[in-house]
Amino acid sequence: MEILFVVVVFAVVIGVMERAVHSSRDFVAPPPPPLAENMPYLTACLACGKMIANTAAACPECGHPRHPPVAAPRKSRGAATALALLLGGIGLHKFYLDQPGQGILYLVFCWTFIPALIGLIEGLSYATSSDESFHAKYG
Ligand SMILES: [Zn+2]
Repeated sequence: MEILFVVVVFAVVIGVMERAVHSSRDFVAPPPPPLAENMPYLTACLACGKMIANTAAACPECGHPRHPPVAAPRKSRGAATALALLLGGIGLHKFYLDQPGQGILYLVFCWTFIPALIGLIEGLSYATSSDESFHAKYG
């Protein structure tokens, strides 16, 4: 009689354990909720490691900029030369070299063909200058 009781208890315990194992095996974690766009989050400061908001321009603790400044791409001497020689009359090389004020002057006076002549001379000067002096002057 006691043996029967032990067997029944054993069977019940085994059944409960099996159910627990199965339910945990069948359990599938729900997908994480989608992150809202532009949701602020914390990120580690590159210099001191303190957690700072991703929207901060610089670390409030040490002042290190969150995004290190990126060097501006250098102007291509070949592109400036081609623009000055071919389209210098309307000042395209000036716009390319971040001199929009001069570019507008070229554009305004393009009908005189003087800008075209100046552009031709500038194109030749770009073509004959060294890369070092060109980048020193125009970036
Ligand atoms: Zn910092």
